[in-house]
Amino acid sequence: MTDTRYLVHGVFWDGPAPAAVAMPGEPGGGLPVLRLQNLRFHESRLEDRAPEDTGGTFTNMPLDAGTRLGFRLAAEGKSCLGHHRVHGPADRDHVLCPALAPAVKGSQCERCFVLDDSRLIHDFHRGGRVPPGLRAYLMQPHWLYVATFAGGASKVGTASHLRKWNRLAEQGAVVARYVARAGDGRVVRILEDMLTRDAGLPQQVRAAAKAAALVAPAAAVELDVLNARLAEHARTLLAVAGGEGFEIVDERWARPQLSAGACAQATRHTYPHDLGTGTHGFRIDSLSGSIALAALDGSDLEFVVNLGQLKARVIELGDHGSEVPAVQEALF
Ligand SMILES: [Zn+2]
Repeated sequence: MTDTRYLVHGVFWDGPAPAAVAMPGEPGGGLPVLRLQNLRFHESRLEDRAPEDTGGTFTNMPLDAGTRLGFRLAAEGKSCLGHHRVHGPADRDHVLCPALAPAVKGSQCERCFVLDDSRLIHDFHRGGRVPPGLRAYLMQPHWLYVATFAGGASKVGTASHLRKWNRLAEQGAVVARYVARAGDGRVVRILEDMLTRDAGLPQQVRAAAKAAALVAPAAAVELDVLNARLAEHARTLLAVAGGEGFEIVDERWARPQLSAGACAQATRHTYPHDLGTGTHGFRIDSLSGSIALAALDGSDLEFVVNLGQLKARVIELGDHGSEVPAVQEALF
């Protein structure tokens, strides 16, 4: 595996919802993966491939409890992850960046950012024009949810029907409830905006805040009470608003088993090293969204590592270990 360079696309939770898992003993929610684009393949084929060839091979590394992750940052800065072309509810192409250009807009170069269909999603309900494939995607049923994170920060959000469960898994919610099922993605975003305006629920909780909260999560029962109250208030506002195209629901989201450890109350430490440089290695014990609870060799302490910070970075896998910080001595 050494010498093979990978571009990290991120942590993906694409498995079935826990309720859909038929085999006893199988992890609820399937296993998330760290999706890695093989760059050696990409680079060797850059010159002789056809323009329509997206040219990618991927390695999906399962992130189970006990997974050992060792790597070295192999390039400076971030590289473009390409763009998506949406053809329908379950049909999309991921077109890789032909130049592997530096990422200047989040994890995309300017060109791929402009070509990306999902850029248009957020203006659709305000009358923005979208291509037919994206329109078909947006016109599928959508779910409106209220999610609460480890420190109590909460948000309103939407999930397409096919990603109903997965969307909340990748967000790293500690507890969440669906409050409405909308006929399409336009109605659901109008309702989302209404709840932001009238209930004060934001539409985003930053990853850094989620990671900071996982260092000392609030009690599960408190978070559940808070989420239940916010969801109930949201349902009341939806009922008052009325209108066509949606129904109010009261349905709890099932958290994946792999997230249980991360969401439990415990004292932990923020991972002290910068994931943008150097070498790292740890054992993953639990995962909430893209944020791992990790153990370092030679230490009994738990560290919170935001694997989302690896997105769009180039790494080489290898047998590395992270240095145990001095925090250990300070405790005893
Ligand atoms: Zn690009």
